Amino acid sequence: ITSEQLTKETLATIKADNEKLNAYITIDEDAALATAKAVDEKGINADNLWAGIPIAIKDNIVTKGLKTTAASKMLADFNPIYDATVIEKLRANDVVIIGKTNMDEFAMGGSTETSYFKTTHNPWNLSKVPGGSSGGSATTVSAGGVLAALGTDTGGSIRQPASFTGVVGVKPTYGRVSRWGIIAFGSSLDQVGPFTRTVKDNAALLNIIAGHDDHDMTSSDKAVPDFTAGLDGSVKGMRVALPKEYLGEGVDENVKKAVLDAASTFKSLGATVDEVSLPHSKYGIAAYYIISSSEASSNLQRFDGIRYGYRAKDVKNLEDVYVRSRSEGFGNEVKRRIMLGTYSLSAGFYDAYFRKAAEVRTLMINDFKKVFEDHDFIIGPTAPTPAFGIGEDSNDPKKMYMNDVLTVPVNMAGLPGMSLPAGFSNDLPVGLQIIAKPFDEQTLYRAGYAFE
Ligand code: GLN
Repeated sequence: ITSEQLTKETLATIKADNEKLNAYITIDEDAALATAKAVDEKGINADNLWAGIPIAIKDNIVTKGLKTTAASKMLADFNPIYDATVIEKLRANDVVIIGKTNMDEFAMGGSTETSYFKTTHNPWNLSKVPGGSSGGSATTVSAGGVLAALGTDTGGSIRQPASFTGVVGVKPTYGRVSRWGIIAFGSSLDQVGPFTRTVKDNAALLNIIAGHDDHDMTSSDKAVPDFTAGLDGSVKGMRVALPKEYLGEGVDENVKKAVLDAASTFKSLGATVDEVSLPHSKYGIAAYYIISSSEASSNLQRFDGIRYGYRAKDVKNLEDVYVRSRSEGFGNEVKRRIMLGTYSLSAGFYDAYFRKAAEVRTLMINDFKKVFEDHDFIIGPTAPTPAFGIGEDSNDPKKMYMNDVLTVPVNMAGLPGMSLPAGFSNDLPVGLQIIAKPFDEQTLYRAGYAFE
């Protein structure tokens, strides 16, 4: 099969699916076909697993000449003039970019319901959310539209939708992948990562996007190993940790069962599994929402109605441009985060909120360090429940935030994390989360590959 044939078939599938799933904001038919043709003419490099294959991109990753909205009215007509580093790398590896996927506005949310444009439906049950914020990317991979998609994960936005839709999603170590050209949410937490159907596909895609970038001073110059090496199915002698806090109150019984079954699987493969404690996990949500919202309030200052993005009509003066453009351009969830963030950072409240949250973050990092002194990886649920109903939590921000309790600690500590399919609860997929030491994605992939 040629890349052009595959791209044509992919376009037909995703266009038909989009009518019911709403996974895409933009499908880039002409450019995708042109790339595919060019790749065919040049000849496909057989060593590159992803050459000539169409993949989808979350719409907060900028793509030159291809509308990039972050699912916000603010950027509804934004056409970037450059490619994010991850996009440059994909293009250099002959990957075909097929379109931009739906998400929560500015990646703030866990259900894809805060998108300005539309709500994405879970392919397993159309009345359920696909998770979020990278819900469109997870959905199109789950539905068989594409073999891979990129997402971003600030507090769970790759792993939680992967869990809800039954696919493999990886958030790499903070610094492993360049953030240049990612529309920033929480700069100390954001990472780009792949969604795929299999662990090996995922490893091969991370190979392409990982690595140091001069444009991002937080990207690491550590060497990038071949993540597909070492996938031999063995976890013999490895030491697995199961934190007791991750199976506590609020975790669905079938989710618990899937994780305990996974623990048995690892044991039967020759690993040891110990119960451990991450005692500061319970403060994770509070600290995460203060830190991520503080960073968001700073990052979102640039959307002022002047430089680019939405500008209110019939304005009276400069103040009016700012106020009305932002009032009309941002949705409610984004405004909530900006208010929370500016409050936490303001004089008089900084010590009580931002500084406290930063201290909690250090305690959380130390919890993990301690566990990793004598363990190779951690397992637990990705999310406390399977996918919930569309509309079920969307008017209750605190309830929505609680869904992130098992994913945010990983971002707070900058660790690599994976979600992969581990069972079902009421006919909906359940994800197993695997967490490894900083820059040890190889162990994530080894463990995931042995398990799947
Ligand atoms: N659900 C979390 C939030 O709303 C995580 C979002 C993300 O990882 N981008 O902040």
